Amino acid sequence: MPIYEYEHMAEGCEWGKRFEIQQSIKDSQLKKCPECKKPVKRNLSLVGISVGKSNAELRDLGFTKLVRRDDGVYENVTARKGDSRYMERDKPETIPDVSKIIK
Ligand SMILES: [Zn+2]
Repeated sequence: MPIYEYEHMAEGCEWGKRFEIQQSIKDSQLKKCPECKKPVKRNLSLVGISVGKSNAELRDLGFTKLVRRDDGVYENVTARKGDSRYMERDKPETIPDVSKIIK
């Protein structure tokens, strides 16, 4: 579900002047702060969408994603050509070489 940013029209409350809340796309826009019931407006910016990107998309965007598989063992699910698929603690040679990404 997307996270929306709302802003109090006047003074903020315990949630701050701005706050973020997760809502279904089907939910109507909040008119009042659920905490203090004062009027709020929704900001246009979507803070984040919980729908993730695929590992291939992340890799193409230059991210490296590590998934913990065991104590001290991480799978590099965005491994690039020549990268080790698994990273192990105390084995620096298994850590991806980011200089290749930058080049
Ligand atoms: Zn409030």
